[in-house]
Amino acid sequence: MSIVQVALPIPMRQLFDYLYEGDELSPGVRVKVPFGSRVLVGVVLGTVSNSTMQAEKLKALLEVVDSAPVIDHVLLKLCHWLSSYYHHPIGEVIHTALPVALRKGLSSQPKPIPFFRASDNDDEKVEKLLGTAKKQRLLMAFLADKEVEGSTLKQHFSTAIINAVLKKSLIESIDKTVEPDLNWRDNLTLSDKPRANIEQSLAITAINQADTGFKTFLLEGVTGSGKTEVYLQGIEAVLEQGKQVLILVPEIGLTPQTVSRFKSRFGVEVGVLHSNLTDNERLTVWQQSRSGQLPIVIGTRSAIFTPMKSPGMLIVDEEHDGSYKQQDGLRYNARDLAVLRAKEHNIPLVLGTATPSFESLSNALNGRYQHLLLSDRAGNAAHAKQNILDIKNQPLQFGLAQGMIDRIEQHLRQGSQVMLFINRRGYAPALLCHQCGYVEECDRCNSPYTIHKQLNKIQCHHCGSARSIPKQCVQCGSDEVVPYGLGTEQLEQGLANLFPDYSSVRIDSDSARGKTRLSELLDMVNKNQHQLLIGTQILSKGHHFPNVTLVVILDADGALFSADFRASEHLAQLITQLAGRAGRAEKPGEMWLQTHSPGHPLLQDLVHNGYGHFARHALLERKQANLPPFMFFALFRAEATGARLPHEFLAEVSGLFRDLAHVIVVGPIPALMEKRQGRFRMQLLIQSDNRTVLQRALAERMALLEQLPLARKVRWSIDVDPQDFV
Ligand code: ADP
Ligand code: ZN
Ligand code: ZN
Repeated sequence: MSIVQVALPIPMRQLFDYLYEGDELSPGVRVKVPFGSRVLVGVVLGTVSNSTMQAEKLKALLEVVDSAPVIDHVLLKLCHWLSSYYHHPIGEVIHTALPVALRKGLSSQPKPIPFFRASDNDDEKVEKLLGTAKKQRLLMAFLADKEVEGSTLKQHFSTAIINAVLKKSLIESIDKTVEPDLNWRDNLTLSDKPRANIEQSLAITAINQADTGFKTFLLEGVTGSGKTEVYLQGIEAVLEQGKQVLILVPEIGLTPQTVSRFKSRFGVEVGVLHSNLTDNERLTVWQQSRSGQLPIVIGTRSAIFTPMKSPGMLIVDEEHDGSYKQQDGLRYNARDLAVLRAKEHNIPLVLGTATPSFESLSNALNGRYQHLLLSDRAGNAAHAKQNILDIKNQPLQFGLAQGMIDRIEQHLRQGSQVMLFINRRGYAPALLCHQCGYVEECDRCNSPYTIHKQLNKIQCHHCGSARSIPKQCVQCGSDEVVPYGLGTEQLEQGLANLFPDYSSVRIDSDSARGKTRLSELLDMVNKNQHQLLIGTQILSKGHHFPNVTLVVILDADGALFSADFRASEHLAQLITQLAGRAGRAEKPGEMWLQTHSPGHPLLQDLVHNGYGHFARHALLERKQANLPPFMFFALFRAEATGARLPHEFLAEVSGLFRDLAHVIVVGPIPALMEKRQGRFRMQLLIQSDNRTVLQRALAERMALLEQLPLARKVRWSIDVDPQDFV
């Protein structure tokens, strides 16, 4: 009997011991174990000779699921790192790292496929049984001296025919496991590619030179500068060596176009991983990447956990994108994890973006990453010109100043498309009583309801609660309740009034709901079926609209005065990304930003000097203000149905971190959104100018913290390198 230590998907920072009789189990093998009254699937992490548990309390394993580890040693090492860096229980980390099908305990091996073959019969018997059945004869001839996959046979013969010969025992069905086809290297093709310009060549050469070791590149290239082309030419040599490439993209940047660009360049299969797949589809890509069958895998955040037989390079496209950070459970950043993974595999990593995150930019400027720049659009496309429109004191129609309306008209008349960005979906962000000023609020979140006219509902965007639009004010009884402010739905209506001759389309998370809806909408835009595009953030990500020559940002002033220190970075990224959607080769574009603060330094710097200049300058300000990436943050969040307990809990937590050298404690303070879904939310910020000091402090205090009696009375979490303070 030996004792195995098992990581289980439960929120406890420990391993669990179970008795086991048999050959030693390798770390990474899944087992089924009894836990309380349940049976859980866990992963073996080690074997020990003594348990801290009393011998008579130890239970036995129920079942060993795998014959070989489902997590290789590199991924296992990364799981340990994630657990210690994000202070998250190892069992839950491993759970996150596995595809759902494997979490449930299903087989990690490809499913056997049914095949048919002729049974062993003497010719005379076969003759007799077939008689005059013509089609059955054809089928027997088809199966002469070969085994045929069930699905292939069914393409040639009806089920009735197949069943008839099966019944006569002339053929039999067998299940076969198909060996993975690892020969893609021999079939690599290189279809035509554009000749790289000088900056692209420099980048490609640098990347190729690194293909024998770990190195991180920051590829900073304006939109349309040919970053994707650099990835394509940069991975050529990797693929030719028979090595695999893993590419991360933001959730909504993953379009069929992206995938087909890689497929058609190399003429190979590309595995795709995103949130709209079934568990089985995900598992198949996982298996094929693990067996080495897939040369290229493209996926969103959690694809960073995809095993590879012979990893050759990692790429994170749009590395600044917020979707790489998981916002619940294990709050990891897939971009940061990519750096560690590349290091473990000893392979290069390329982080690409037009608008680098301050973290990555800082690493490039201080020499930790190699900085590659693409400063011009590829081919002969020009940059979109960026402009600011002062709307102080101007009459607005549907949020648009007259000058803007005229300009939109001009572009439409020239046969171009116009894109309008507004950050709010729905009809209007509030319902206001004109008589008494009362605003309808969700009392679970203390925030105004958004009006959705098409649904005839008011809805809270924080908790999803909704009800029909009230006809009267609940406070004074007046029936003069009116929409306040502007949302995408209302703008869509307004544009139909202002430009009746042109068709508009709204692209936001309401209209693009459903698996294929977004690509359908984008398709219609590219076919010029709509001339006016209205949308939210979705529009800023990855899609190219060659016929759009004017981008209008209706109002971004809110972000200029936000309490979140990252708001200006995110606003600058958004504006730059939006401007990048406009114009292509023959059609130069322009972007206009409406604002009440035309003199704001951020806007001035951005518009006149570009994101690169703005970011380098803003980075200096972060340094002076002692903010990330020069300070390291860990944020404790706590919530409960009353405000008192979270405050008391975090006050006790803050006591654990006081009096530590180089550690600063801020709070407890209310979260930016103080109440949400009926719960009061508080925060405590722990900072240090030294990552190691912060990590050590957290590691040392975590056990004490969990023993605080209040830790069981509030819902709490820790977020290392938090991205927001909502
Ligand atoms: P990014 O990924 O930076 O947005 P892409 O790689 O998609 O840029 O390139 C933008 C467009 O320019 C694409 O249509 C691409 O085919 C084209 N392109 C890229 N590099 C070159 C080049 N060296 N010469 C001509 N066209 C290029
Ligand atoms: Zn009223
Ligand atoms: Zn709510």
